[in-house]
Amino acid sequence: MLVNTIQRGIVIDHITAGRGAKIIEYLDIDTKVNTVAFIMNASSKRHGRKDIVKIENVIDIDMAVLGLIDHQATVNIIENGKIVRKINLQLPDKVMNVIRCRNPRCVTSIETNAPHIFHLIDEEAKEYRCEYCDDIVSVKGGLLDEIMH
Ligand SMILES: [Zn+2]
Repeated sequence: MLVNTIQRGIVIDHITAGRGAKIIEYLDIDTKVNTVAFIMNASSKRHGRKDIVKIENVIDIDMAVLGLIDHQATVNIIENGKIVRKINLQLPDKVMNVIRCRNPRCVTSIETNAPHIFHLIDEEAKEYRCEYCDDIVSVKGGLLDEIMH
């Protein structure tokens, strides 16, 4: 299979089935320039069903965004056809300009160039708190409207 022959790039494995398309969208990978293989609903020994995304010639992706969308996923960095690094994703403790604050009274809603800064307050509930107004945003269960592009 062609998708197995990646020489250099990133393989995002063990993606929760159904989230692969979101990952491609939010990582902002230019599919006109980069070769992207997207495998939906592959069978997995660990999780039953999973999605896999392979991106050729891209090494640098936004791990914070990826961790927010699906922190169960694993990232393999491929060089010369071999895995040189495996990264286990985590929910980032602090994110800047990734989650948007929806509170209309928040300073980030009034001053358009103020950075959107959120801190992780509850890992299990996937809840983040806005640094300015203390509003809480949950990124659980694919509710990703708050994630900025
Ligand atoms: Zn806020």
